[in-house]
Amino acid sequence: MIFVCDVMLGKLARYLRMLGLDARYVRQGEDIAFFPAPSEGSLFLTKRRGVTSCGRALLIKADDPKEQLLEIKKYIRRHFDPSALMSRCLDCNTLLADIPKEDIEQLVPEYVFHHHERFKTCPSCKKVYWEGSHADEMRAWIDKVIGNR
Ligand SMILES: [Zn+2]
Repeated sequence: MIFVCDVMLGKLARYLRMLGLDARYVRQGEDIAFFPAPSEGSLFLTKRRGVTSCGRALLIKADDPKEQLLEIKKYIRRHFDPSALMSRCLDCNTLLADIPKEDIEQLVPEYVFHHHERFKTCPSCKKVYWEGSHADEMRAWIDKVIGNR
């Protein structure tokens, strides 16, 4: 499942990526036609009423991104894979790659370097992630969204 989030749902897209889900973000002025179609397994999430042109659009009612997440928990539960946690860049959705600790010494705060062993990097935007960089916030959300299924 590819979650396609419209321009008003940027934070929701980040949360979905945090959960390891494939979440594309449609920027202002970008044509939805360039994003995967429902026939290719996408679900278009929008806050704009009347966006029905792509066939499978879901209207998101809440303004708070965490509540938005709960609105679509049915879909999240169906596609959530615990092994995919911390697998995507929050900024650009690219799949992260492992990077040896010695290669990132200059790229992260000293404290982080000394207190973490495993690091990942985004091949596209070069952002560096480590266990804990979004894991704590994430766990609370997994319990709430995915928990007790
Ligand atoms: Zn990135």
